[in-house]
Amino acid sequence: RSLNPRGAAAQQITVCVRKRPMSRKEVNSKNIDIITIPTSDSLIVHELRLKVDLTKFLEHHKFRFDFTFDEECSNALVYNHTARPLIRTMFEGGNATCFAYGQTGSGRTHTMGGEFFGKIQDCGTGIYAMAARDVFEEISRPEYREIGAKITCSFFEIYGSKVFDLLLPNKPMLRVLEDGRQQVVVVGLTEITVTKVEDVLRLIEHGSKERTSGQTSANAKSSRSHAVFQIALHMPNSWGPYGKCSFVDLAGNERGADTQSADRQTRIEGAEINKSLLALKECIRALSRQSSHLPFRGSKLTQVFRDSFVGGKKNKTCMIAMISPSMSCVEHTLSTLRYADRVK
Ligand code: ADP
Ligand code: MG
Repeated sequence: RSLNPRGAAAQQITVCVRKRPMSRKEVNSKNIDIITIPTSDSLIVHELRLKVDLTKFLEHHKFRFDFTFDEECSNALVYNHTARPLIRTMFEGGNATCFAYGQTGSGRTHTMGGEFFGKIQDCGTGIYAMAARDVFEEISRPEYREIGAKITCSFFEIYGSKVFDLLLPNKPMLRVLEDGRQQVVVVGLTEITVTKVEDVLRLIEHGSKERTSGQTSANAKSSRSHAVFQIALHMPNSWGPYGKCSFVDLAGNERGADTQSADRQTRIEGAEINKSLLALKECIRALSRQSSHLPFRGSKLTQVFRDSFVGGKKNKTCMIAMISPSMSCVEHTLSTLRYADRVK
């Protein structure tokens, strides 16, 4: 399978889709796979529908993206075509942002944080860790070593309109402020200096645990928050980071659907998630159209990423939309694909 590596490196915005394999549970319950990926940049959803007279027919929904990854693709292959080209951006002084979008259970955390073995996650096999490896390879070059450039990591969570630091015990809440120069800062965010990949792995592991701690179902609450892992490059004697890479495990996009049945708290959460994902879409669209109107104040998520949406050509954004293959998820899958399609 050959992928044309053109796009990602050259474009300012890359939009990709990743289909995960059928789970054992889906196979056991006789669910069927309704997604085909005929080429590495296209995808078809075969939706089973009923006519008024109750006869069945298939509707084929075709989509095109920069890259489409089928269930055989590894995290490493996905990384190479999505986040990897963004590492350059940071070293060139830009802000690079990679979003994992999709419904709960579609594979966002698997892709970003690493593969699961039962409930245990191998943090070394996700995009966060692969990015860290490449960053250290780059910064070990003499030109960076000689000047004393350094790398820091942060890990935080946006839940509703609140921000929590995942690198401190009990995730303290942080404030987000806009300073006089229109810079948005997360006040007091922990930035840990890291010198090797193992340091980063420990932070990812710690943060991922904080994210899901105290929850009856690990996937339940973590799916209602956006998790942001950041790697920043600092040059000596300069204010603020020189360049930054942010990796965002977005909240599950399925909330819109359960706004009726859910209790009040879940409804409020759902509305907040919808609002932030909508604002994100509008900001990325504005970026791709070089529009001067950026609706980043629409949500905490987009406010925090203001720097990534302004600041011109130096910045790069990548979105990986995750989808489940199974027929039972068809509505969410189509909604995910339409969202990703609008972002292009
Ligand atoms: P999300 O974070 O979107 O809710 P997860 O990453 O937790 O979803 O994935 C849900 C389940 O599917 C996990 O058990 C995970 O191991 C599995 N999974 C997701 N993507 C893949 C993949 N590409 N290959 C194999 N298993 C996957
Ligand atoms: Mg998850």
